[in-house]
Amino acid sequence: MSKIARQHSAHLPPDTRRTNFMEVVCGYTEAEALTESGRCLQCKEPLCSVGCPVRINIKGFINFVSKKDYKGAYKTITEANLFPSICGRVCPQERQCEAGCILGKKQQPVAIGLLERFVGDMAQQHNWQETRPIDLIGPTSKRAAIIGSGPAGLACAYDLAKAGVTVVVFEALHLPGGVLTYGIPQFRLPKERVFREIENLTRLGVTIETNRVIGKIHTIEDLMGRLSFDVVFIGTGAGYPRNLGIKGDSLNGVMSANEFLTRVNLMRGFDFPRYATPVGIGKNVAVIGCGNTAIDSARTSLRLGPDNVYIVYRRTLEESPARKEEIRHAIEEGVQFICLTTAKEIIPDNEGWVKAMNCVQKDETGSSEILLNVDTVIYALGTMANPIIARTTPELTTDKANYVETNGESLMTSMPGVFAGGDITRSGGTFTTVIHAMSTGRRAAKGMLEYLESN
Ligand code: FAD
Ligand code: SF4
Repeated sequence: MSKIARQHSAHLPPDTRRTNFMEVVCGYTEAEALTESGRCLQCKEPLCSVGCPVRINIKGFINFVSKKDYKGAYKTITEANLFPSICGRVCPQERQCEAGCILGKKQQPVAIGLLERFVGDMAQQHNWQETRPIDLIGPTSKRAAIIGSGPAGLACAYDLAKAGVTVVVFEALHLPGGVLTYGIPQFRLPKERVFREIENLTRLGVTIETNRVIGKIHTIEDLMGRLSFDVVFIGTGAGYPRNLGIKGDSLNGVMSANEFLTRVNLMRGFDFPRYATPVGIGKNVAVIGCGNTAIDSARTSLRLGPDNVYIVYRRTLEESPARKEEIRHAIEEGVQFICLTTAKEIIPDNEGWVKAMNCVQKDETGSSEILLNVDTVIYALGTMANPIIARTTPELTTDKANYVETNGESLMTSMPGVFAGGDITRSGGTFTTVIHAMSTGRRAAKGMLEYLESN
């Protein structure tokens, strides 16, 4: 056991942070990182790496940190993951790497995420860059198209580029990153951090073409035919909104979390009046749902200045799939949780805008109706697969909900040479996290390289 207590990173105080979009968790100082790295027991058979979906050599990188060899630590992490600044911030470590840490049995586990973030940020500060692999192995003549620049597509691109494949990523939006850019808010994951890590990928030779909706400008058949790609990866995520199907669903003032977060993050609604893209939400906001997306929507709403932000959730808070740290932050900031409650109807004013929401709350004695006066209702009910690829690719086997079906370990789809991963498949099991998307991107890259070798 370690005699040293887990080092906590400084946080912005709740009253300060609820008024702006500055990053909430400040991250370790060098002294804190060194002390924390000293807590690692350097187990012979570490279970932390088993909990990490991309199997980072955690013990190895922490050992480098403890010796102040931060470049060595960065090199060790990037053998498995090019995005430590991102993953150190957003992975649900308490269910992954840190859940395996043996210290966690009797005291708090090593803060693996905070250490990873420290190393990733240090690499950005010093502009560290791996040698271009093509300089080492020479380019192959093979070409890969990646559809979607979310974590699955980026991780797949990284492994293919390292193997000397020419990689072009096609992204529908005007900026790359998927949910990392348009979904997860600035106060949790600053966009500068995301773009710096993506820049490392482009420095490896990967081309990212934005404003390219595959299914509209080119089909997969075009990519494999006319445009001469040898393999294709589908990493289009599951950003299609889901409605409750109750009365009042389509009133003015009802929106999906993805629409709301995209308007704030991507269109910089949070930066009004510097950007002429205000997002009007009124005085009272209700967010329906309690996953990561709901918590992000509630905390984002709060920062736009309303009097009340409610989370309306049909289960108990303990059952929420969101990261525990984010729930704690939301409570500290003043988000009000109304649990065991289901929305039944959204009520309009005379002009067709939201005026109130009628809900049913359950408790030990039965159920009762509650009326919430709200101006905005945000649906954060989980997302669905966008049907555009399925509709334009008849040879591709998808399930009823348009999720792409893949085969076994390689993640090849029903079309030879076409692979898929991330949220558009069910290959991460029930997990829809950044690092699971990345791990399926890496798995698919392995399958694609094997396919290229044998075809
Ligand atoms: P995405 O990130 O959705 O990226 C898909 C990309 O494909 C998008 O950029 C999209 O524009 C593009 N695309 C779609 N269709 C096309 C097309 N036809 N042509 C070209 N491009 C296309 N996970 C965590 O681990 N931790 C968190 O804290 C966390 N918070 C979250 C908060 C929010 C608000 C949301 C929505 C999700 C969160 N998640 C979190 C889940 C995680 O972000 C996703 O599981 C992950 O991003 C999925 O990665 P992906 O690459 O499959 O898809
Ligand atoms: Fe933990 Fe995520 Fe880092 Fe893996 S990538 S070690 S799961 S924080």
